Amino acid sequence: MVTALSSRDQTHPVANHLDHGAFRAVDSDGVIDLDAAERAVRDLLRSFGRDIDSEHLADTPRRVAYALAEVLTPASFELTTFPNDEHYDELVLVREITFRSLCEHHLLPFTGVAHVGYLPADRILGLSKFAWVVRHFAADLQTQERLTMQIADWLDEHLQPKGVGVVIEADHQCMSPRGVQADGARTLTLAVRGSLRHDGRSRQEFFTLAAPQR
Ligand code: ZN
Repeated sequence: MVTALSSRDQTHPVANHLDHGAFRAVDSDGVIDLDAAERAVRDLLRSFGRDIDSEHLADTPRRVAYALAEVLTPASFELTTFPNDEHYDELVLVREITFRSLCEHHLLPFTGVAHVGYLPADRILGLSKFAWVVRHFAADLQTQERLTMQIADWLDEHLQPKGVGVVIEADHQCMSPRGVQADGARTLTLAVRGSLRHDGRSRQEFFTLAAPQR
């Protein structure tokens, strides 16, 4: 079974978000208006009293527009699942999937790792695909809470496993440089579905294996 996961997928919750906010879509395919973004960055620098004609800043608006567009553009991929012919019925856990995202409240990066697990039913997922799913949803204006739930819900819907669990540990730049939170403090979020939510033994096993190891 192959499921396309791309920015053109109309059923995908991320697909049409570019209609809103600072990165206005110019057509229904969610194309980012780079020229408008560049003008906006130039205005932003001006509003901070910066000389945008200086050698250092002259090309900054273009670089910022492209950098943001890159962070906010999810990569397309084909999600291939396979029949669970061997009837594997224990936890599959992929730990330490690195990602970067952009906090929608401050437009500052947050980065971290995701630990994604599931209890298979009829289909299994290629292990490398977990990183694609995490990074696909991270390529957006995000909150850590929403990112965690989107990954869990998407796997729950498309893999239809017995259970899904997602733990995310992340560092938010919008907190540490402003002194709200000490450097090194991490935010932990989790989302569990199916038997990883309701079955005590499965839940305990998932959290033991997915817990931060330090
Ligand atoms: Zn923030």
